Amino acid sequence: MRRAAFWFLNDPVKRIVQIVSLLAVTALVFGATTALAGSPKHHCASIGPANGGALKWGKQLRGSPRIEVREGLNWGTPELVNAIERATDVVHAKHGTAYRIYVGDLSRRRGGKLKRHKSHQTGRDADIGYWLKQKHSPGYFRKATSKTLDVPRTWTFIQALIEHGAQLIFIDYRLQAPLYRYARKQGFKKHQLEPIFQYPHGRKKRQGIVRHVRGHADHIHVRVRASQSVAHGKAYLRKHPNAIAAQPVRYKVRRGDNLTRIARKFKVTIKKLRRWNKMPRKSKKRNRLRRGQTLIVGYKRPKLPV
Ligand SMILES: [Zn+2]
Repeated sequence: MRRAAFWFLNDPVKRIVQIVSLLAVTALVFGATTALAGSPKHHCASIGPANGGALKWGKQLRGSPRIEVREGLNWGTPELVNAIERATDVVHAKHGTAYRIYVGDLSRRRGGKLKRHKSHQTGRDADIGYWLKQKHSPGYFRKATSKTLDVPRTWTFIQALIEHGAQLIFIDYRLQAPLYRYARKQGFKKHQLEPIFQYPHGRKKRQGIVRHVRGHADHIHVRVRASQSVAHGKAYLRKHPNAIAAQPVRYKVRRGDNLTRIARKFKVTIKKLRRWNKMPRKSKKRNRLRRGQTLIVGYKRPKLPV
């Protein structure tokens, strides 16, 4: 072997071939590593429902001359990050440069529970400040009224968000009115606006992408479909069923109920019922239940978003 190698190196033609092929292999390996480092290895996975799920391999929304981000909780699916950035670009392109839009919380890096939010757990939700007529220093949300709202920019923004996969947009009902009227003036027919606005059917009507939810007078809440990331989330969950926490199943105590009966009804042990509901083990009142009291009677994995 040794001899053969020696002979091989001594042959000038073969030596050149050897050096060239060595260089080629090095270049290939180097190229592959750089490519891997430059692009994410995994596709983002949006796992479980927005109010009880998780996020993996999400993307961070970065600040730009057009977007001001709050530090920290700005991870989302690429679909969400893209929708915010593109919709902002559309507003600038159509209405001229405006001040930076202020974006609040998206999700945590790995998703999951977030303080002050019910959803925002899977990288599909974001809170965004309103476009206002008057330039103001951002840094926080400002309450918008029908007088201060920049209606044309907001309407353009809503349309662009929907075009980029928004499936729910929470906007205070009082702000929906001027937006709706403006859209009508722009030539949109009633039937075209039906699938978009809850207005004018009342703030309780479950219709339209734009809906009233309390607490949305100073910011828009947007949720995107993120079909690709959700599909990856479903695949991920099949492999890792424990990726998201099971949610408690609750039951309201009725007249005549007792622990034994409830335990039998939900096919669980009394011991478990006591533990889940933090009931005292050594007390005279240990078995007492109040009518109308809510008990945790089990834990169930949440349904996946459609
Ligand atoms: Zn929100």
